[in-house]
Parts: sequence; C-alpha cells; structure tokens
Amino acid sequence: MIPASFEYHTPQSVSEALTLLGQHGDDAKILAGGHSLLPALKLRLSSVGHLIDIGRIADLAYIKEDQGQLCLGARSTHYQVESSSLVQQKCPLLAECASNIGDVQVRNRGTLGGSLAHADPAADYPAAILALDAEIQVVSSSGKRTIKAEDFFVDMLTTALQAGEIVTEVRIAPAAVKTGSAYLKVPQPASGFAVVGVAAIVTLDASGKCTNVRVGITGAAAKAFRAKGTEAALTGEMPDEKTLAQAAAQSTTGIDANGDIFASAEYRMQLVRVYTRRALAKAVERAKS
Ligand code: FAD
Repeated sequence: MIPASFEYHTPQSVSEALTLLGQHGDDAKILAGGHSLLPALKLRLSSVGHLIDIGRIADLAYIKEDQGQLCLGARSTHYQVESSSLVQQKCPLLAECASNIGDVQVRNRGTLGGSLAHADPAADYPAAILALDAEIQVVSSSGKRTIKAEDFFVDMLTTALQAGEIVTEVRIAPAAVKTGSAYLKVPQPASGFAVVGVAAIVTLDASGKCTNVRVGITGAAAKAFRAKGTEAALTGEMPDEKTLAQAAAQSTTGIDANGDIFASAEYRMQLVRVYTRRALAKAVERAKS
C-alpha cells in the first residue's frame, strides 16, 4: 500500500530537527531507519503530515567511550552495534543482541534509537537495555534529560518519551570483572521478532558465587521487563544447575503473558522459564572463562 502524503524534511542538526518538531507538533514524526514507521504508514495504521528524517544528522551517529561509559548515538544501526569492536569488547551483550535482530537488510537500516522509541513488545534491544541498566539520553526544546532503562518502557509501543523529545544517546556503564552475559531468543520464523528473548548478566565473586544478576525479558508481555524474582533468587548463590533452574522458575511470577496465533500465553511463559535458565547458564559459563 501507499502511505498518505506527507512533507519530508531532512534536518542537518538536532536543533534543526527540534525546531521542525516544534513547528509541526503532533502532525510530525521522527524518521530514523523507517523499518517500523514506514510499514505502519504504508498500512495506514498511522499517518502524519511531516516526516523529519534524522538520517543526515552526523551528531547522532557514533559509538565511543566517554568517562568509562560506552556511548551509542541514536542513529547507530543494528549492524554497526553488532560489528563494532568497541561494543564487542565493552558490552558483548548488546552486540549479541543486535546480531539477533531481523535479517541483514533490517540490521543495515534499523537504528538503536528507533527501536527503543518504538518499544515494540517483541523487539530485542529492550531486554538487553534493561539488563544493562542503561541510560537513555533525550533532548527537546526545553533541554536534555536522562531516562533510566527501567523507567523508559511504559507499555506496548509506549515509552516515557514526551512530545517533542528525540532520543540522542544510550549510555552503558562498564561491567565488573568476572561478568558474563548472554542473549538468547526464540525468533518468530517469518519476521525474526522475539517470541521470547532473554538477556542475562551474571557477576561472580572469587568463590564462584553470584554477586550481581540482571535479567531482561522481551516478547512475553506488553512491555519488556526485569525478572526481579530470578535475580533475587540467584544473588549470593552458587550457580549450579539446580539453583539456576529454581531461579529461572521465578521469571514469570506476576507476568501477564501475551498470547497470539503463533504462541499461546502458556507456551510463552514456558519459553521464558526455559530460555532464562539457558541464558543464565551461558552467562555463568562466560563469566568463568
Ligand atoms: P523508525 O521506523 O524510523 O521509527 C520508529 C518509531 O520511533 C517512530 O515512531 C519514530 O518517530 C520513532 N523514532 C525513531 N528514532 C527516534 C529518535 N531518535 N527519537 C525519538 N523517536 C524516534 N526488531 C527487532 O528488535 N527484532 C527483530 O527481529 C526485528 N525484525 C524485523 C523484521 C522486519 C521485516 C522489519 C521490517 C523490522 C524488524 N524489526 C525487528 C524492527 C527493526 O529493528 C526496526 O528498525 C526498529 O524497530 C525501528 O527502528 P528504525 O530506526 O527503523 O525506526
């Protein structure tokens, strides 16, 4: 299908994009990789009078280290995140997560900022961003603010972003020594989106006990979430097979799971428990090595 007509803008700077957003208000949308927005416009699920393409704003395209934190500009494509040696070295979980998104065409166009702002309940990044306790920097005409990952995802396709705000950067703190991580997913065979995706991070102390455990889960519910019951059950414990299974069993506590023609809610819950156990086991193995 063909989208309803719109005016196309190509700002060269963030301030130019903010001015356009201010001028057109609710009748404008940011366009990044277009891999979620354009299908919605073509299907006429959404329509907008002005598209503000941030694809030419050089200030949003970088992956760098700043004061020990890994900083990724919102325009970083999934492919850039997956293939960056800095990301692979400093935050292998994010690179692994990006490598699981869609196919090579999607990864070449889709962006980190676009994926987070869209907040698809089956998107991969939210699981990793939550597990990493990342910070999301946003800017509007009234200034900058930082949103913690935990506060960012509000509901299905809904974030803490306010009207007129643009995601500019994702910041990730360095991992402690003896930390391992893993992202595992069950992809929907047609789209590649996560039926369930689990991001696990485990830090071990000298005796091999878990000192820090963080688990982010996507695909299962209206929004991605932290499996806090699992994290609490494993913290302070030796991560043997039985303990990992007991902790993973807590991952669905209190979750109102999605069901659809591809996977019932009950099946998704089972996948969450199984993939949480496997992701934790892999993270532990990597922490040891
Ligand atoms: P766009 O489509 O350009 O924008 C999406 C929304 O975010 C729009 O509302 C836009 O206004 C807003 N936006 C964009 N950038 C910003 C910003 N910087 N600040 C504020 N708002 C912004 N995703 C997965 O996670 N896993 C998959 O397996 C997967 N498979 C896919 C398969 C196919 C066939 C397709 C088409 C998409 C798939 N996706 C998947 C989605 C893909 O990752 C998208 O690229 C991503 O969800 C949106 O990023 P984008 O840069 O394309 O954003």
